[in-house]
Amino acid sequence: MNLILLGAPGAGKGTLASYLIEKMGVPSISTGNILREAIKNDTPLGRQAKDFMDAGQLVPDKLVIDLLEERIAKRDCKSGFILDGFPRTIPQAEALDKIANIDCALSLDVPYEVIEKRMTGRRVCLRCGATYHVVANPPRVEGICDICGDKLIIRSDDQPDVVRRRQETYHEQTEPLIDYYTAQGKLKTIDGTQGIRETEKLAVQALGL
Ligand code: AMP
Repeated sequence: MNLILLGAPGAGKGTLASYLIEKMGVPSISTGNILREAIKNDTPLGRQAKDFMDAGQLVPDKLVIDLLEERIAKRDCKSGFILDGFPRTIPQAEALDKIANIDCALSLDVPYEVIEKRMTGRRVCLRCGATYHVVANPPRVEGICDICGDKLIIRSDDQPDVVRRRQETYHEQTEPLIDYYTAQGKLKTIDGTQGIRETEKLAVQALGL
């Protein structure tokens, strides 16, 4: 199955993706993680993306479409993939339709008040992309990634003013995708406010896994 996870920044796409990787046996692709890795390694892509990301804006479509196309051409995506954070604009969705058949867009519905609280406690691993929350989903050892043992960090774009800007960007540019996938008959929506295990259960039901 080729699945898209839709939802505002902080809705829980990354956390649900790590569960679905196991459940579905396919890789998850986070364009945000690929871009953060590129910034960390100071690559040309990272240098082009950094200012947009720090400002809570979207990276230009051309850059992310090219990187996504290259990523899903890899062999591990042949039997399916989960997209976390792509597409984020209508032109990205149209480009994706030309390179892959999407089976389902699963939207995580979470109101802004809940998201704001979640974002302040979020910690991420830059090496493997795992996401934690200091209260709702803490690592076994404080500040250390369970999966790869690297140090956890607070994302630079999780500062309150950037979080607000990212939500505005989401409403303006990404929310129209709800109508886009509804029109294609591919949209499924679940309540993402109910805690991690419950969200996983709702996703499994919605996807018929
Ligand atoms: P995320 O980790 O998905 O929240 O992404 C972090 C940041 O990376 C976003 O705020 C954007 O600046 C950039 N980004 C990630 N995915 C995309 C995308 N599909 N289109 C444009 N910008 C993106």
